[in-house]
Amino acid sequence: RLEPLTAILDRAAHTWPDRTAIAFRNWRCTYAQLRQRAGRFAAGLRGLGVAPGDRVAIMLPNLPQTLVSYWGALYAGATVVFVNPLYMETELTHILEDSGAKVLVVLDLLLARHSRLLRGSKLERILVTRVSGALGFPLNWLYRLKAWREGKLPPLDLDGSRVLAWEPTLARAPLFDPGEDPARDLAMLQYTGGTTGLAKGVMLTHRNLSVNIQQARSILYSIGESPEVFLGLLPFFHIYGLMVNVNFATDCGATIIPLPRFDPLDTLKAIHNNKPTVFPGTPSVYMALMQQKDLPRYDLKSVRFCISGSAPLPIELQRRFAEVTEAELVEGYGLTEASPFTHINPLVGNRKEGSIGLPFPDTMARIVDTADPGKDVPPGAPGELLVKGPQVMAGYWNRPRDTDEVLRDGWLHTGDVAVMDQDGYFFIVDRKKDMIISGGYNIYPREIEEVLHAHPKIADVAAVGVPHRTRGEVVKAYVVPVPGSGLTRAEVLAWCREKLAAYKTPKYVEFLDELPKTFVGKVLRRVLRDRPGEQKP
Ligand code: ATP
Repeated sequence: RLEPLTAILDRAAHTWPDRTAIAFRNWRCTYAQLRQRAGRFAAGLRGLGVAPGDRVAIMLPNLPQTLVSYWGALYAGATVVFVNPLYMETELTHILEDSGAKVLVVLDLLLARHSRLLRGSKLERILVTRVSGALGFPLNWLYRLKAWREGKLPPLDLDGSRVLAWEPTLARAPLFDPGEDPARDLAMLQYTGGTTGLAKGVMLTHRNLSVNIQQARSILYSIGESPEVFLGLLPFFHIYGLMVNVNFATDCGATIIPLPRFDPLDTLKAIHNNKPTVFPGTPSVYMALMQQKDLPRYDLKSVRFCISGSAPLPIELQRRFAEVTEAELVEGYGLTEASPFTHINPLVGNRKEGSIGLPFPDTMARIVDTADPGKDVPPGAPGELLVKGPQVMAGYWNRPRDTDEVLRDGWLHTGDVAVMDQDGYFFIVDRKKDMIISGGYNIYPREIEEVLHAHPKIADVAAVGVPHRTRGEVVKAYVVPVPGSGLTRAEVLAWCREKLAAYKTPKYVEFLDELPKTFVGKVLRRVLRDRPGEQKP
């Protein structure tokens, strides 16, 4: 089907008008009400002069307002630009300038934090939502609202004319058809995580995003057969959280429980109390939960499906997870440039451990020589993963050269090294740029990490390449020991020597309390590589 993304919410509001769409603490809103609120927001934006194709930036954590402003901006025909609410000055300035956003929707406390920057920006309007404002949320703990109220944080000092409070302004003007040409109109400019450098705006059309939902639905078809409750923990401002917790959940007519921040214990409590049936997460989220001492005290049995993505799911964790919960844990793979999903393990049928599964319908995947992208490699051999399909982005915003580099003849060069087995299942080996070259050998950190993850005294691990005088690079392992386990370096090295070839065995091992990670749980290898650290064997 070729349709604007908003058709998903239209359908949900039509099919399940009285179903709860959002449950946030004591606050509820049905699909009919969500559709109505989004429509009002859209009308308000149009009344403020937002025209189709204008960029509307949204800088909010997971809150009901995030969903209302996302759908509302889409109904207004605008292009949504999500901004991580934790971004600091440089990142925020870059995104606002690069996207040319006309309007920013922001939480009052963030407005206070960035007031100087925003005053100097080219934004025409700033819409401020208050955590305890129009929608009445008792959210005093979030972003230190109390401290702000008590004057312990700087006051709002913006030029009042550009700052509007949320609801009263946003209820006029007629509606119109969003995404008139779904294949061309941009629904979003989604800035890449910046794990590897300056964030680029990925242009995603209405068609890209709605197709990805249809593709996911054809595989995950049993999700949504009965009313579902999604635990909205993954950030809505990241493409993975947006796709599963917002777009896919809405397509299922599910109740979404937004959780604005991650705390392992609070998450266990939220599952125990709210009884979600679907819990999309990342390996680091699942890992943190499995490590909680109080885990057995909480009832997780309501959860039937977990979807893991965004980083490799260690096989050991997958096994442990299956022992503790009765949920199906399926691993998928994707990237912002592909809206994001391209691969997933089948819900019903053969699931392979350590695999990202099979390509989505209508999606072609190839593995090519890392040094010569014109040459396909045979099954079993590692190479760069290329994908082609209707979910692949239109390109990078204002960066034709970057676009040409990754999109060639419609094939998206993912930058990930993968292997396809004889049955057509794909396995991510590692990112091309994370590969360690030591004495002429290629080493993939993931292999070393899988070995170390299996050690009972190791809670988390990351392997990186560090410079070496004669070998070019050597492996260094950053290890997070299980607290109180008394793990020693000698034990780590002995374990590796037993299970890995000599050139893959870490030359250096350093213990850390935790690994630096992004908000979706990807290890920040750049930070580890740049760490001065001790380099003791
Ligand atoms: P940037 O592109 O700026 O570096 P990013 O890599 O975090 O940021 P995303 O689009 O969020 O951008 O992430 C996509 C990447 O996540 C993939 O290219 C891949 O490396 C990794 N990834 C996603 N799913 C999996 C998975 N199941 N297993 C291993 N890696 C995964």
